[in-house]
Amino acid sequence: MNIRFIIAMLAAKISKFLLKLIGKNATYLPGLIALKLDKNFLGGLSKPETLICVTGTNGKTTTSNMITDILRDNGYSVTNNGFGSNVQAGVATALLADATLTGKPKNKVAVIEVDERSSILVYKYITPDYLVATNITRDSMKRNAHAEFITFIVNSALPSTTKVFLNGDDLISSFFGKENTDRTYYGLDCEIPEREESAGVKDIVYCPICGGKLNADYIRYNHIGRYRCSECDFVSPERAYTVTAIDRENKTVTLTHNGENHILPLVNDNIVNVYNLCAVSGFLHKFGLSFEQIAASLKKTAIVKSRFDTEKIGDYSITMQLSKGQNPIATSRSINYIASIEAESKAMLFMCDDIEEKAESACWIYDCDYAPLASDNIKQVIFAGRRCKDHLLRALLAGVDESKIAICEDPADGAGLIDTSCRNVYILYQLYLVNEAKKAKAFIEKKAREEIK
Ligand SMILES: [Zn+2]
Repeated sequence: MNIRFIIAMLAAKISKFLLKLIGKNATYLPGLIALKLDKNFLGGLSKPETLICVTGTNGKTTTSNMITDILRDNGYSVTNNGFGSNVQAGVATALLADATLTGKPKNKVAVIEVDERSSILVYKYITPDYLVATNITRDSMKRNAHAEFITFIVNSALPSTTKVFLNGDDLISSFFGKENTDRTYYGLDCEIPEREESAGVKDIVYCPICGGKLNADYIRYNHIGRYRCSECDFVSPERAYTVTAIDRENKTVTLTHNGENHILPLVNDNIVNVYNLCAVSGFLHKFGLSFEQIAASLKKTAIVKSRFDTEKIGDYSITMQLSKGQNPIATSRSINYIASIEAESKAMLFMCDDIEEKAESACWIYDCDYAPLASDNIKQVIFAGRRCKDHLLRALLAGVDESKIAICEDPADGAGLIDTSCRNVYILYQLYLVNEAKKAKAFIEKKAREEIK
């Protein structure tokens, strides 16, 4: 019996109880306390019967929550950290909440979202049965340095026995666990591809095998697409699960596996969410669920609401979207998606400066694609936050008309600047600015209700 472990567990459980008592979120601190008292705390926990880890730069929260929801809907008892922290302390918090004092899990399955940077601190102690990866793209330079560095971290930590379920259209994360023998790939085989020249930022341009120049068959966004090497016989990996059709009208996708087509509900038509849907459905089928079970559960599963949420009030449509700054790929996808929606008179309030923006570099703004903001149906763009002038300069360089841009340094002032003649309002916000985002939403709601009267 490891006394240190039990003391750490006891202290963590008490702190969790006390935090809940005072109405605080206990998704990080209990794990941190446990790790301070016993740095091998994760290693002391008994592994649940099945441990599924989900990682990647973008989409891991959505993917991990959808896997959890569908498993629960099919009668599995599941532990999950999807609404909490995904670094080592968050993983410990989720697992200890489900464990007895001696570290035995109560639930049979754990679906744990793991921050890719934290891989080394997590997989050293717990061995996932499965790793589901969404993608690896550039992210905050201060936190994550470079995509290759992150891949190195994941690969040096991931146990060789883990079964990997990988995005075959991402030449970076598809090399996770390259020595692992149980490998399955998923991807998309539909949609009009984006033109190569539109993909300004690419995190891989040379063949991962020989270093020769890669030729793209097509690119969906950034470096996500299908490639072949110009100098060796390397081609993008063969996929076992592919989305072969998206029917936006009937809100379905066709998922092809072993030559058979299966119709599944389309949860959200943003291309990044179609990838997430493909990862979730393909993985759960490999895990043992039938496509019928997956389809039935998907019909009930709404995409995690806090990430993308549209509400219609009178003539107005207000969309709230959580959007991390310092992440040029995710931000570009959000901007591109808003520009692609068929609607006239759109206004966008953009509040994506990092809370530590003073210490962070602003260079991510130049990796981000602002060109879609020049679209005629986007009537107004408001940059709110201490970096607003940097965003303004970046937008001007991207050809956005200055007369439709407004700026303010205090995010709280953003709401008052919204041009209410625009009927479609998009609010992109950092998590710590959720109150300012709600204030902006309330401002439009009030205007809409006045018009209804
Ligand atoms: Zn090559």
